[in-house]
Amino acid sequence: MPSLLLPHADIKAWLDRLGTDGELHAPLRGRDGAVRFDVVQQGVIPDLQALRSLLPPKKYLLPPNDTVLRYTQADGYHLPLQATTRLILLGLHPCDLAAIAYLDRQFFGDQPDPIYAARRQRLTLIGSSCRPDAYCSCHLSPSPLPAACDLFLHQTATGFLLMPETPRGSAICQATADLLRDYEPKPPPSPRDHFGVAMPPPPQTELDPRLPDWQELANHCLGCGACSLACPTCSCFELLEFGGLDGRTAERLLRWDNCLFKGHAEVAGGHSFQKDRAQRFRYRYRHKYRGYGPLQGVPSCVGCGRCRVQCPAGLDLRPLAERLEKGAP
Ligand code: SF4
Ligand code: SF4
Repeated sequence: MPSLLLPHADIKAWLDRLGTDGELHAPLRGRDGAVRFDVVQQGVIPDLQALRSLLPPKKYLLPPNDTVLRYTQADGYHLPLQATTRLILLGLHPCDLAAIAYLDRQFFGDQPDPIYAARRQRLTLIGSSCRPDAYCSCHLSPSPLPAACDLFLHQTATGFLLMPETPRGSAICQATADLLRDYEPKPPPSPRDHFGVAMPPPPQTELDPRLPDWQELANHCLGCGACSLACPTCSCFELLEFGGLDGRTAERLLRWDNCLFKGHAEVAGGHSFQKDRAQRFRYRYRHKYRGYGPLQGVPSCVGCGRCRVQCPAGLDLRPLAERLEKGAP
């Protein structure tokens, strides 16, 4: 069966058609030059050539500030109502799709998170191919997780090859069939090619906490947290409870937290499990490159490069990770 090609000339009509099935969000370049996922207004063509957005698409699943519980005297604690409008996220690169696959594993684990599940259910994910730059490491250490997308667009010189991955993706192809052309040349690459399948197993040796690299790296870190904020798989949070002055209502808020912040591991009494920045650095490394908890052995770094682009101190954990993976001291 021939593949389906969406010619460049028909992309605008295709996007307008997509927008009738839900609210379309895609990468848009702002006046400041930064690329952000945002709602696409009728007639606007998103920047599908942009390599990475400032914030990753995790913001659709895990907003930075979120009410997770409400309390009233009459009903006790209850989950807040969630929006049900369908959202179509277009232009997700393989690293961001792998990141969503990672978050799915995390939030649909032993105890599925109902708020995450409701948000995930309303998303249609449309990926698009890209070319890694010097900041990317997706091609060096591909995520072992399969793509989490409904439809994948592979960019060619003449247009986009459409590759449906789920019934939702096939339905989009059928609904826009009049805009698509048959594409006969050799079979297109599978979107899974962008993720690779092999990930070198992490070394089993326990890391030596006295390795000088941690301290050396930590000495340069400003503790600003930009790397974690920008990371598509970082999901640390803190919970805050606010009681109403009437004594009858309350709200529990979730707010993004950051493992490189000094207060992150603080507990009652002012004790901290990670007092030193070097300890916090080591923690971040382990989480990103070794996995943790039930996801032990599954790296959460998908190689998007955002942390490297945004670190004001120019820090990069990747060379350290490579050395440790090879077992070098
Ligand atoms: S650790 Fe850096 S390169 Fe890896 S997924 Fe997070 S932001 Fe991207
Ligand atoms: S972005 Fe750089 S300076 Fe800021 S916390 Fe991360 S590693 Fe440290």
